[in-house]
Amino acid sequence: MEAALEHIPDPSSGYSPRALGTGGPLASDQLLAAPLKSLPRPSILDAPITKLKGAGPKLAEAASEMGIASLGDLLRHLPHTYRDRANPVGLGNLRLGEEATVEVEVKSAKLRPTRRRRLTILEADVLDPSGKAKAVWFNRAWLADRLQPGARLLLHGKLEKRGFAVSEHEFLDGAGDSAGLHTTGIVPVHPASERIRPQKLREWVWQAAPMARHAVEPIPGRMRRELRMASATDSIVASHFPVDDHQAEAARERLAFEELFLYQAALVSRRGRRVSGNKGVELAPPGAEVAGWVESLPFSLTGDQRRALQEIDDDLGQAQPMQRLLMGEVGSGKTVLALYAMLRAIEAGHQAGLMAPTETLAEQHFCTLLSLRASEAATATLLTSATAPAERRNLLDSLASGQPQLVVGTHALIQDTVEFSSLAVAVVDEQHRFGVRQRAALDAKGPGKRLPHVLHMTATPIPRTLSLTAYGDLDTTALRELPRGRQPIRTRLVDEEHRAAAYDFIRERLREGRQAFVVCPLVSDSDAIEAKAAEAEARRLAKTELRDFKVALLHGQMSSDQKVRAMDAFVAGEADVLVATTVIEVGIDVPNATVMLVEGAERFGLSQLHQLRGRVGRGSHESFCILFGDPESEAAKARLEAIAGEGDGFALAEVDLSIRGEGEILGTRQHGLPQFRAATLPEDTALLLEARRRVLELRERFGSLEAPGIGPLMDEARRRFGDERVEQLAA
Ligand code: ADP
Ligand code: MG
Repeated sequence: MEAALEHIPDPSSGYSPRALGTGGPLASDQLLAAPLKSLPRPSILDAPITKLKGAGPKLAEAASEMGIASLGDLLRHLPHTYRDRANPVGLGNLRLGEEATVEVEVKSAKLRPTRRRRLTILEADVLDPSGKAKAVWFNRAWLADRLQPGARLLLHGKLEKRGFAVSEHEFLDGAGDSAGLHTTGIVPVHPASERIRPQKLREWVWQAAPMARHAVEPIPGRMRRELRMASATDSIVASHFPVDDHQAEAARERLAFEELFLYQAALVSRRGRRVSGNKGVELAPPGAEVAGWVESLPFSLTGDQRRALQEIDDDLGQAQPMQRLLMGEVGSGKTVLALYAMLRAIEAGHQAGLMAPTETLAEQHFCTLLSLRASEAATATLLTSATAPAERRNLLDSLASGQPQLVVGTHALIQDTVEFSSLAVAVVDEQHRFGVRQRAALDAKGPGKRLPHVLHMTATPIPRTLSLTAYGDLDTTALRELPRGRQPIRTRLVDEEHRAAAYDFIRERLREGRQAFVVCPLVSDSDAIEAKAAEAEARRLAKTELRDFKVALLHGQMSSDQKVRAMDAFVAGEADVLVATTVIEVGIDVPNATVMLVEGAERFGLSQLHQLRGRVGRGSHESFCILFGDPESEAAKARLEAIAGEGDGFALAEVDLSIRGEGEILGTRQHGLPQFRAATLPEDTALLLEARRRVLELRERFGSLEAPGIGPLMDEARRRFGDERVEQLAA
């Protein structure tokens, strides 16, 4: 109980809380039970930055573009680097080319005329006890008036042949206690923008720093002691104005931990709220029907699939609603598992639904389900906006009347008019494309007050560390093992010199009766330009290298009719080659296609290349991926080397993460990932794991993260990662 008592005011301090209304003293058990959520009270840290000197409305607007609106935001805007100016040097001891900070007195100053209109040069003779020099400023004409003889300044810059070239200066007279802020000691450099210079941010942070004492401390005291962790206040101040590198890193680490800790707390409690008090539909173990269906599949499940199946069975047998994420690349066999979960519901006399983000995907899923003989095992229906009204009415009636059946659809499934009498299992494809509200709407479709078991699916493999950040509120299952018969794909990076040989190779494959994809480079954001390029390439190939073969074309500017015809021709084998833009990234399955040629491969992202490559290797023939590309940058080179050397999507995702960092990889909004200010992944993986462990431990010890003894943890978590508010609105 030690930790719990820590936040209870000590009576000997003279402060004793009174009950609201009666004014009587509160008993200690009342105090312990009281939700010590901080009441929404105004904090100076919520004040707008216009409170600061030198922060007018214009600059404030520019700051808000960078996510800095309040003083609190500003204090959480951490430096991305520091300049070490801790050792001032005498003018007389400077060497040519050396960068340094010097403290000088002005003897005289003058503007030197130049022939170029846009260039002004300001020169000042300056001296210090060790010597003298000529200080030079470019385009700072307005300074001339202030450089009066006798003025004292700190200059930071570099000694060049023509003089000491000044990059930053500071007047010492009347500079108050911020003297040296820009030019001495360890100088923080904050991420700036075109409209706000780092100097401005530094001045603001300096003014705001004393307010850091109002920072909320979300990490419980006992844990802080165990981890020997500085306070939030000290860490904020030290991260902006450290005494040395070591302190700067320690402070950043503490703030990164805090951030990850809060985020994990938000995820864990979100999950907690869904499962606590909300019951799912406890299903009996699988019966003969489902078992028979599994037996009847034309293939045997992979080890990963079997393991996943076991996990799903365990989930479905619980009163707690399932909340599982199934990750696996296209073709890894997720749909079989989804169908399994749905059939389990139906066998038990309930209903099941699968929701996909687009009509095309819903249709595709429906086809896959049919190919897996879903309709022999259950009544299965497709519901999209294209469903005929009469059919739709029938479906809705039978759903409402409780007929056990399975529905595949788009958002149409969660409309108010759709009433399930007993939705026990729901599958959500590409779950990151659905919002919190939509997930809540799906939950509301459960029978009575109970929630459906939910299985989320995603084809985007993401590294384990990120899945913890993005999906920390879900149990996860990964399918890494591809179904048997899937061939590894040989990937080669080919330079221009070997282009002819590559076409030779492709022609051989085509003569053997195989087919090939040719993907044109990402030209720009314009579909039209991309379509043109694909057209031109198709024409070129049909006249030259691939003139003996039938070449078809597929791009985003074609009508859906044309697209279907092109696809059909390729699927039927009437066309040997399909020249396409990246539209083929989304689900197309032609087992006879064994070559994927990508033009301008350096322009594609790693996961995109991997998805493209996944279009081949689906039949029994050996498959190849040929990448034409000119790695212009280090990152492009790293990507191409990775894709050529690695076939596993999860491993590639790890590589991608280390090349790009988590912000870019997951497009924060797309995956519901927050933008962290102090933490960066994957570098802070160890902190992330520790934060998660600590959150779970805390919940274990106190029963709930909202327990009063924990202090303001959840309030702060909600404030910073507030998608819970959205969820409450939706509920
Ligand atoms: P995903 O949904 O992950 O893209 P699917 O479930 O649609 O993958 O599976 C892709 C194809 O592989 C389907 O045609 C499916 O029937 C088949 N398949 C699934 N599991 C296996 C397996 N264990 N062995 C062989 N084929 C499989
Ligand atoms: Mg599928």
